[in-house]
Amino acid sequence: MKRSHFILIALVVIAGAIYAQRGPLLERIITRQIDKTLQRVDNSLMTDGKLHVILCGTAAALPDPDRAGPCTAIIAGDQFWLVDVGPSSWRNVDQLNLPISKLSGVLITHFHSDHINDLGEAITQSWIAGRSKPLDVYGPQGISDVVGGFQKAFSHDKQYRVDHHGADYMPPSGAEAVAHALPTPKGIEAEPVLEPNGLKISVFRVDHAPIDIAFGYRFEYRGRSVVISGDTKKTESVIHNAKDADLLIHEALASHMTKRATARAKELGITRIAKLADDVRNYHATPVEAAEVAEAAHAKKLVLTHIFPPLANGVARHLFLQGTSDAYKGPIILGADGTRIDIDTQGANP
Ligand SMILES: [Zn+2]
Ligand SMILES: [Zn+2]
Repeated sequence: MKRSHFILIALVVIAGAIYAQRGPLLERIITRQIDKTLQRVDNSLMTDGKLHVILCGTAAALPDPDRAGPCTAIIAGDQFWLVDVGPSSWRNVDQLNLPISKLSGVLITHFHSDHINDLGEAITQSWIAGRSKPLDVYGPQGISDVVGGFQKAFSHDKQYRVDHHGADYMPPSGAEAVAHALPTPKGIEAEPVLEPNGLKISVFRVDHAPIDIAFGYRFEYRGRSVVISGDTKKTESVIHNAKDADLLIHEALASHMTKRATARAKELGITRIAKLADDVRNYHATPVEAAEVAEAAHAKKLVLTHIFPPLANGVARHLFLQGTSDAYKGPIILGADGTRIDIDTQGANP
């Protein structure tokens, strides 16, 4: 028998065997997939002793096909915090297999829509996943308006789920969120506000004028530190509070890339767009300014987030980062949804 005939017969036999077994085989494949889905949550993030930072959303206010709105997860020990919950960011929190039923709380930097839009999802989905205590939501003065509004908007949803599944499975307390207005620090000094199980959280003011109040947050855990700038232009308070930080996560808007579109909009008489674009440029930092902040603070690593404009390809990404490595000598990461940084706490000086 020719070799090709032999291979053909072997293939027919294998195909026949698979066909005969298709029921059990399909069953096994589907069961494996179900098991994977049911057991996908990565609980090791809360037990390995490291300080984890996961970017769940890295866009700015305008929709970006590749990025959800601003959201950063901080996980350390048994603590799991989200800083801001921008549009579609909850989808990432879920898809990144984060331990959502154990969400400790949400910290809001300020009340621009791109930072609060998914708060309803954060409350509802972590409740569905098993959180039974009210969710603590912290932010500047005014946070109770935001939280109260979401609670009202989701009150029908809450009732549906409790009635449908029963209070034993969907305890009504899990659908609740409690607003905590943080004190507004005087000057640029950060103010420690929380210290749950060894994770120290401090808040500081940033410069997002005319938006007032806007916060940045500093996290310290077992001698390591992470600073999140929130929305701000280049400001001394971030430099001061990111001093020697292991990681600085800074917002960045590449005005050298948006200027041209603004000028063209003016030429075309689309003055509204030109005016809005000009205004927006004034209260954000450029990538080079973010790099200068990291350099001045001696931060050990810089991650850029709140990226604008959308970066469709490598050329755009290159343009975005232009000049940053001259301004900052440390490593720079252009943040993307799903970027994860694990900071080892071994050998740190607590
Ligand atoms: Zn923003
Ligand atoms: Zn903003």
